[in-house]
Amino acid sequence: MAFEKLAELIFPNVEHDREYYIEKYPKRNLKEGARVTRCAPSPTGFQHIGGVFAALINERLASQSEGVFYLRIEDTDQKREVEGAIEDTIMTMHKFGMDFSEGMTGQETSKGEYGPYRQSERAEIYRTFAKDLLIKGLAYPDFCTPEELAALREEQIANKITPGYYGEYAKYRNITEEEAIERINNGETYIIRLKSPGNIENRVEFHDLIKGDISFPENNQDVVLIKGDGLPTYHFAHAIDDYLMRTTDVIRGEEWLSSLPIHVQLFEVLGFERPNYAHIPTIMKQEGGSKRKLSKRKDAEAAVSYYHEVGYPVVCVIEYLLNIVNSSYEEWRAENPTADYHEFHVALEKMSKSGALFDLVKLNDVSKDVIARMSANEVYEQYTEWAKVYDEEMYNLVISNETMSKEIFNIDKDGPKPRKDFAKWDEVKDKIFYFYDELFYNETAEQIELPKTLSLENAKAVIEEYAKKFNFNAGSQENWFEDLKVIGAELGYCANRKEYKANPDSYKGMISDVAGAVRSALSHRTNTPDLYTIMQIMGEEKVRERFNKFLEI
Ligand code: GLU
Repeated sequence: MAFEKLAELIFPNVEHDREYYIEKYPKRNLKEGARVTRCAPSPTGFQHIGGVFAALINERLASQSEGVFYLRIEDTDQKREVEGAIEDTIMTMHKFGMDFSEGMTGQETSKGEYGPYRQSERAEIYRTFAKDLLIKGLAYPDFCTPEELAALREEQIANKITPGYYGEYAKYRNITEEEAIERINNGETYIIRLKSPGNIENRVEFHDLIKGDISFPENNQDVVLIKGDGLPTYHFAHAIDDYLMRTTDVIRGEEWLSSLPIHVQLFEVLGFERPNYAHIPTIMKQEGGSKRKLSKRKDAEAAVSYYHEVGYPVVCVIEYLLNIVNSSYEEWRAENPTADYHEFHVALEKMSKSGALFDLVKLNDVSKDVIARMSANEVYEQYTEWAKVYDEEMYNLVISNETMSKEIFNIDKDGPKPRKDFAKWDEVKDKIFYFYDELFYNETAEQIELPKTLSLENAKAVIEEYAKKFNFNAGSQENWFEDLKVIGAELGYCANRKEYKANPDSYKGMISDVAGAVRSALSHRTNTPDLYTIMQIMGEEKVRERFNKFLEI
């Protein structure tokens, strides 16, 4: 049944027809195999790490095929809109190495030929296609009140019937044009629904680029296309936008998989060629024996802001996410230790089909590796950039001791196995604080660590002698250690473990106690990088001063 008059009543003054838009937004002229993908967030203001994950996959696939990656803002649910959310999304993606070649560029601005890229500005386009479906009898107005719909649902559930608005339960599915016009003229409110041509008995075979071959029953629900506020539902907007923007691959969270039957049908009803689909497994977290979704409420790491606050270099998070996308990333990284991550080729079909496990321990491992590969200068730059925002005291100390700080960041960088001591910048202070007098001398006596085998008295006795006899300019780590052994032996500390074990009573302790005393006097800690290196970085004056102060404790 065609609804020409009704369509005109509901959508008067629609300027163009569907062909106009289809011609206005022609298939893109891109090289063979180039993919057009999108990031399509709702502007809620919360940046979830899952959003970055999905965007990263979209961006990588577009970039590596020399395609287009664009930003579309899905703001048809206007209640949820948060001010500044668009800029925030653009900034976040930019920080994570992703820039859009097209789409929204700010709150009010955009670039590209396939816009508007904000759904709230596309109302006229949705109206045009909804009107066309009405005219063709493929859609109809539904006058049910929310109460009626709730009652229907309850009844269906009570009778163990699939709930929803479909077939015989769709009260207005076969409404006549006259009745609809009359109701509208009487001021009744309505929404526009799809008149689903589907039959639940039919199965649809489908190939998802991540999930592989799947099949599902055809959709038979008369889903809502246009809501009471005149704006489209996600389903309707998705079909129209992704078709008119000529998206080649819709890569989105698997929470949309259950709506796929609706989308497949909508593309058919609208007469649109369908894009490829890839449904990304949800990011999960292991909790005890079970897995659950990474939750905005429970897990700090669900928020993108967390990674900035604790100071994960962005590239570490990206590399970790790439690890989740393709487990072969780790092997690739091992074979190409210095390559840029952009050189890795993301392959959707190699992605795990089930939940992607998000694991902070693994992130830390990846991050330590990445930071270990950075030069001392790079660590300095990135650390100070972070500290400037999140730790002003460290920022001031580090920049006012630039040379020393760079030497600290350079400890054990050159060898074949560079030190992996930092996973994130908020760990730095604890590990290097002792180089800075302002922090070191602020420690209380309780904070001073000593080897378990050494009393403070004995440690002081060691330092008293050592301070007198040690040669600061030993020339090498080996000479320095020989020197330490000689001084230790004079004080009664054994340099040989076996000998000590055989005759523990003949010694005061072991050479490790002597080193422990020196370490504690210089750092207040029992665990530090190589002592000789630390002393060289501190310089003789500072070292002697610390020995003297240690004796005063
Ligand atoms: N606006 C949708 C969301 O934020 C986009 C899903 C999609 O990529 O199609 O979940």
